[in-house]
Amino acid sequence: MRKTIIAGNWKLNKTCKEAVELVTELNREVSQVTEVDIVVCPVFTALRDVSDVLVDSNVKLGAQNLYWEDAGAFTGEVSAPLIKDAGAQYVIIGHSERRQYFGETDATINKKIKAALAQGLTPIVCVGELLEERESGDTEKVITEQFKGSLAGYSADDVKRMVIAYEPVWAIGTGKTATPDQAQEVHKLIRQLLADGFGQETADVVRIQYGGSAKPENITELIQQPDIDGALVGGASLKSDSFAQMIKNCIAVAK
Ligand code: PEP
Repeated sequence: MRKTIIAGNWKLNKTCKEAVELVTELNREVSQVTEVDIVVCPVFTALRDVSDVLVDSNVKLGAQNLYWEDAGAFTGEVSAPLIKDAGAQYVIIGHSERRQYFGETDATINKKIKAALAQGLTPIVCVGELLEERESGDTEKVITEQFKGSLAGYSADDVKRMVIAYEPVWAIGTGKTATPDQAQEVHKLIRQLLADGFGQETADVVRIQYGGSAKPENITELIQQPDIDGALVGGASLKSDSFAQMIKNCIAVAK
């Protein structure tokens, strides 16, 4: 039995004031929800202010990235201890936008996961194929490579402390969602990779989120799939009513 986890990736949006307004509205609706784990991931500069709103709330805080060194001469970077200090418990690692625009690779993602775990942060590790990779029949190969490269050297106990997010790049921010069957097929593959690499017990407990134009209208069908344990949500998490509706739809699905 895996508890559904819904995380909002606010990307590069919201001033501190806007972030506080959004999380205050969301909190009013879902702060006492216990059936589903809820996470919001604002920009670094808003982490502390959002954390202050979430005191006594079941809504948890996450960051969108980190640097693998804890401190030192790394101008412009933010480390796991600082993210934790700002009140976060989760961190998104290896989002496709970071791979695409900031040169992240499986090797850098692997190091970032280590830094997150060392601070007790839960990494949300993202994998996903490009449209041309899907169209050329390479989805399984790409997901397998990303999975193995990102998680190389980790133990089953480490992996149990992670969340995996399957985010087909062609579905992110495009309004084009993977069908429940398409998503389930890749989630099942990831579950098998977890079993092969880290044992069946690990595969049974690790949660795998779907991400890519998830919204209130399609979340129910997605999370009804046996290997889909929640969602990583971009656009639809920027409005409290749509994000809260997604959470309510998830509560209504008996898994
Ligand atoms: C994301 O940024 O992780 C994402 C899935 O975005 P969207 O929901 O807007 O497609």
